[in-house]
Amino acid sequence: MRRKLLVANWKMNFTMSETLSYVTVLLSELKAAGDADVAIAPPFTTLYSLGVLLAETNYQLAAQNLHWEESGAYTGEVAGSFLKDVGCRYVIVGHSERRQLFGETNVTVQKKVAAALRDGLVPILCVGEKLDEREANRTWEVIEGQLHTALQDLRAHDLEDFVIAYEPVWAIGTGKNATEAQAAEIHKMIREWLSRRVDGITAERTRILYGGSAKPENSRALLGQPHIDGLLVGGASLDAKKFAAMIRNLP
Ligand code: PEP
Repeated sequence: MRRKLLVANWKMNFTMSETLSYVTVLLSELKAAGDADVAIAPPFTTLYSLGVLLAETNYQLAAQNLHWEESGAYTGEVAGSFLKDVGCRYVIVGHSERRQLFGETNVTVQKKVAAALRDGLVPILCVGEKLDEREANRTWEVIEGQLHTALQDLRAHDLEDFVIAYEPVWAIGTGKNATEAQAAEIHKMIREWLSRRVDGITAERTRILYGGSAKPENSRALLGQPHIDGLLVGGASLDAKKFAAMIRNLP
């Protein structure tokens, strides 16, 4: 059975002191993440300290990005092995903000996925269509293209611990989440694609998260869909009480 996974994507938010306040509230609400996997992805600057603050808990650490090279003259970049070194288990790859604002392409996303696996991190590969693509009935074509390139060199043994996040771009940070039916349809298509492209075991094992204006008010209904294995949460995760409520809502 797939364990549920909830990931807080803090994006470019929270100084060290704000991180400390957040963790104080989160742990007073919920000392432990329970039976599910719960990870927080802070900015690089607070990764290590957040890891220390969460050390005695079962909350896990995630990064928001990585570079594909192992080390060297890449000013401003961070290698996957460094993320592993400070205690990261997961790394978000190909978030739509990175694709839209920082020029990431399916090809750079593919290199980052390969690097994450090489460095012992679990990639959370983000895929999703923009509003104009949905309106032009190109949703699946776009997602399939993103999946195809990102996974093109990978085989079943590479994908033993792998996460995909379906994040419709029009739902991110807009307050307008995909309906349960819209999300469920795409999640099913992604799982069927994995079954065809890799194999049935990998398809059944891979966790597929939904992301896009997920919040305490809609999380239970989204998580009740058969192929939705967790949530990638932006805005609502910035409020420790709301994030704790979403953890409590996990089935
Ligand atoms: C995200 O950035 O991954 C996200 C899902 O954001 P939000 O929850 O704010 O829509």
